[in-house]
Amino acid sequence: MSLIHKSAADLGALVARGEASAVEVAQAHLDRIAAVEPKVNAFLHVDAETTLAQARRVDERRAAGEELGPLAGVPIAHKDVFTTADMPTTAGSKILEGWRPPYDATVTRRLREAGLVILGKTNLDEFAMGSSTENSAYGPTRNPWDLSRIPGGSSGGSSAAVAAYQAPLSTGTDTGGSIRQPAAVTGIVGMKPTYGGSSRYGLIAFASSLDTPGPFARDVMDAALLHEAFSGHDAMDSTSIDAPVPSVVEAARQGDVAGLRIGVVKEFGGEGYQAGVLARFHETVELLENLGAKVVEVSCPSFTTALPAYYLIAPSECSSNLARFDAMRYGLRVGDDGTRSAEEVMALTRAAGFGPEVKRRIILGTYALSSGYYDAYYGQAQKVRTLIARDFQAAFQQVDVLVSPTTPTTAFPIGERADDPMAMYLADLCTIPSNLAGNAAISVPCGLADEDGLPVGLQIMAPVLGDDRCYRVGAAVERALTDRWGGGLLAKAPAL
Ligand code: GLN
Repeated sequence: MSLIHKSAADLGALVARGEASAVEVAQAHLDRIAAVEPKVNAFLHVDAETTLAQARRVDERRAAGEELGPLAGVPIAHKDVFTTADMPTTAGSKILEGWRPPYDATVTRRLREAGLVILGKTNLDEFAMGSSTENSAYGPTRNPWDLSRIPGGSSGGSSAAVAAYQAPLSTGTDTGGSIRQPAAVTGIVGMKPTYGGSSRYGLIAFASSLDTPGPFARDVMDAALLHEAFSGHDAMDSTSIDAPVPSVVEAARQGDVAGLRIGVVKEFGGEGYQAGVLARFHETVELLENLGAKVVEVSCPSFTTALPAYYLIAPSECSSNLARFDAMRYGLRVGDDGTRSAEEVMALTRAAGFGPEVKRRIILGTYALSSGYYDAYYGQAQKVRTLIARDFQAAFQQVDVLVSPTTPTTAFPIGERADDPMAMYLADLCTIPSNLAGNAAISVPCGLADEDGLPVGLQIMAPVLGDDRCYRVGAAVERALTDRWGGGLLAKAPAL
């Protein structure tokens, strides 16, 4: 098996035993990137020299006898919304084109400390707003399963890079589904940790009460290893949880569901869902039952109001967060020729620098927060948020985890929903409740839809700080299905 087809755990072990150098492993992935990137467009920035220098440092640390973690020498693709002191950071926006941050995000710093080798920065919907990566100012990323389709979003560059074997691991951020939905539609694993379980310091903010960094990988164990590598308390993030990281690696190793109570969310499924998605979902629920879980149906009535509440809360926070792009402090500055006022330069810069979806969100959010409307829109949405959290609390009295399809449909064609924001927003129907409540949720592959042969994701939702349960159930499903398929789902992906 070539290096690019190995798991992150295996690559880390090869490097640890001295059977491969970090430089060799990095070079194999750089070669893969060079070969398939023209088709996929997963990266906004790749710099072989910086990558190889990082790999050399890992080899030196090893040679000096330094004790390094299980992922030392493993390459990773990093979402271009985390600051990196040695690489540009754009958030997929023209307004930050060419910006070099003066510091590393906490997630970035922890990747480096763990000896992970950053291959480059991945494409995303501008400021992480979108479900298809079509809102990137730098062109869409393509789904490795079918290059005419979207790889999900907003972390579409990160999902595509892992599915295309350009990297065994990548980072993402999930505000309304941006890790789980891209993972589902590219046939990989994507985890949204408990809110506050992973640091937002140095993450370019979209909606601060929702934004959550998390891992992508081709299997559950690799995702768990990466989760542990960058999670945990950070004094630099005021909403970071000061508690031990749940034992997700141990849970992934365990991977059994005997005696576990699993709730199927009654409100998710039916009209608007693709038949092939529902078929794979129901089969997987049956499989869990056969593996010894006790499956019951659970009603979460407020989940049906999550989408509208999210589209008031997220834009409200975004309108406030994006006020910092004022043409003075970062990136782009338009029309500063000495004849214009600061306000005029700011207006010209924001008009030229932000794309249409970002502008739509800023306008929506500013409206929802404006005097006279605040209670009716933002205030009301916050109440819905409380109801959703209560639905989860009630559900987790009865069951250990909840399951649903991750997304209502498989990957849609590029362009299909680009002019229809409502259709685009529906991609996150099932993922948003976990963001509003702040609990943990994962997407693991559960098969291919009959209609189009494209991957389907199973979403497993757990209580706040119950991240380990997501991995435990995810690993059980993965094991059973890998046996059935005679290999991982990506073994079935058409070669690029
Ligand atoms: N698709 C959702 C949105 O556009 C979620 C994005 C995200 O999680 N960053 O807001």
